Amino acid sequence: MWTNLRRALSAGVDLFLPPACLLCGQLLPPGCDPQAFCAECQATMPPLGNSHCSCCCQPFPGTSSQHLCATCLQRPPAFSIVHAACSYQERVKDAIHQLKYRNQVNLAQPLGKLLGKALDSAEVSFKPDCIIPVPLHPCRLKKRGYNQALEISRPLAKKMQVPIDTTLLQRTLKTPPQQGLTAAERRSNLRNAFIVTTTTSARNILLVDDVMTTGETVRECCRVLMKNKIAEVQVAVIGRA
Ligand SMILES: [Zn+2]
Ligand SMILES: [Zn+2]
Repeated sequence: MWTNLRRALSAGVDLFLPPACLLCGQLLPPGCDPQAFCAECQATMPPLGNSHCSCCCQPFPGTSSQHLCATCLQRPPAFSIVHAACSYQERVKDAIHQLKYRNQVNLAQPLGKLLGKALDSAEVSFKPDCIIPVPLHPCRLKKRGYNQALEISRPLAKKMQVPIDTTLLQRTLKTPPQQGLTAAERRSNLRNAFIVTTTTSARNILLVDDVMTTGETVRECCRVLMKNKIAEVQVAVIGRA
């Protein structure tokens, strides 16, 4: 009863207080989108610079240049291009960490909107038939309670007016965490981890994930999808490491 009362009071107080940044708690100026980050947090989440792989967005050190990275040259991916909202550092790293490991599901909204803005400013002409969030294994989904890639996809799907498909691609293999593994180890770790479970009329797919590091997960998802009469897969991620 006390919890319910406290919640009701808190909701009542929220009505009279200006909304706060979902990441740092700083009050947002009146009229601001209540599901946005404050200007200070946004300033630490700048769009990816010009110096990155023209296909997978892997950042290059040094001055601006765009060409294919060694990985894309040696192993051309099944996706045509990756769109990344920002580089995986500072507060975006913190936001994704809180979303994934600290139950801060409300951060998916501003992060998804950030991705929508990045796709807008890149003037992407690609029209997907559906958005597919990178699936979690059912065990991990049960433990976490939600798939962060799906939560990020929701505001994006709303903005793009595209349905989300969570049935076509499934993760059937429970793999150990990818952190600390080399790209080759990640690749063999993920072999046969995903399957396509149904048929689809979708030909163009936007695959969404929270973060892309070596890219082996999205590479494997796209490899599996492209074996199923899919014409093109593009990838959209919040943070690119
Ligand atoms: Zn903030
Ligand atoms: Zn590349």
